[in-house]
Amino acid sequence: MFIFKTINDIQAYLRKSTQNGEKVGFTPTMGALHSGHLSLISRAKAENDFSVCSIFVNPTQFNDPTDLEKYPRPIEQDIQLLISAGCDILFLPDVAEMYPPGLDVSVKVNLGGLDQVLEGPMRPGHFDGMVTIVHRLLDIVQPYKLYMGLKDYQQQAIIGQMIDDLQMPIELIPCESIREADGLAMSSRNARLSAEWRAKAPLIYQVLNTVAGRLDLESISSVEASIADNLSAAEFKVEYISIVDAGTLQEISSLSSNQNWVALVAVWAGDVRLIDNIAGQSKQVSLT
Ligand code: AMP
Repeated sequence: MFIFKTINDIQAYLRKSTQNGEKVGFTPTMGALHSGHLSLISRAKAENDFSVCSIFVNPTQFNDPTDLEKYPRPIEQDIQLLISAGCDILFLPDVAEMYPPGLDVSVKVNLGGLDQVLEGPMRPGHFDGMVTIVHRLLDIVQPYKLYMGLKDYQQQAIIGQMIDDLQMPIELIPCESIREADGLAMSSRNARLSAEWRAKAPLIYQVLNTVAGRLDLESISSVEASIADNLSAAEFKVEYISIVDAGTLQEISSLSSNQNWVALVAVWAGDVRLIDNIAGQSKQVSLT
């Protein structure tokens, strides 16, 4: 695996290596890699000529300075994991490389309101920072396919919208969430859970798994309320539980026939913020 720290170096290598039309699959990450990340990197390798991964803890998408400071950075371990997953190139820039003083790297995109809901109001500035850095990374790497996790459902929806809005020649590949054996979605933040919260955390996915069945019997608002009650009863602090249209992320009062929905949840497990989601489709309403 090659490791490049500067834009010039990675671009020079990629220009040479893709001159006969070789295709690049790209996975942007913030490091502290786990099997969730590695599933994206292996898939990028299987579906392209080169699997490129970036590790950059992007300061502009952290609205909480403590969260940025506490973000784990086990780079030696990450490098070993990337090699084992078949990664060809790691892009490992520092902050000055990505945000050179005096250079405006911001991007104007119509996100169609996708950034105004759910995580948007809870984490002011987060999506602006995320869109800016992913746009900059895509500009540098110029991949054929971009691999992102459905674990961060709203994030991949926003990047899909950015690609459409800016007519970027990149295919977004949303990848399924990889979970621990007990159902907890893998996340770099899980390492910060106390033993007590780690034991309780699988409840998040357990309650999400009841959504589809409950929606057959109850209204959306009553399903949302009972999920919130289940989580609060276990002492999670619920930031939101919302069942929304899977495309627009807008609230829906009732499901229409064959409607794609997604139920998204953000909770505090002690001092660790966890998110998860589950998607489904409503049944076809019979017209007979
Ligand atoms: P992060 O390093 O947290 O920014 O994540 C980098 C990429 O890995 C994002 O596209 C995430 O959605 C994805 N990712 C994180 N956790 C998981 C998981 N448990 N399963 C699948 N993809 C994941």
